[in-house]
Amino acid sequence: MAYFTVKTMVTMEAYLVEDVEADSHEEAEAIVKDRIWNDDLAGEIQARQEITDEHYEAQQEFMCPECGHEFNEHHMSRNETCPECDADLPDFINY
Ligand SMILES: [Zn+2]
Repeated sequence: MAYFTVKTMVTMEAYLVEDVEADSHEEAEAIVKDRIWNDDLAGEIQARQEITDEHYEAQQEFMCPECGHEFNEHHMSRNETCPECDADLPDFINY
């Protein structure tokens, strides 16, 4: 087993139908927009939202056994020593 940091981007969509009283199309849309940005419809949005896209990116994390410095796999792929104490990396164990 090893340790990873996983960056995640989840894209959601929510389709809502709201009935409002207004004097114009613009006012009707503005009323619903206000409700959304005031979180009045947060429960509705949560109930109706669907994930439309998702992206995951895992990055393995390492720790230097000599000094405890933490660094990621991008450093491991480019270097042979700890960026902090210069200990040799080939002997490193995933923690
Ligand atoms: Zn070190």
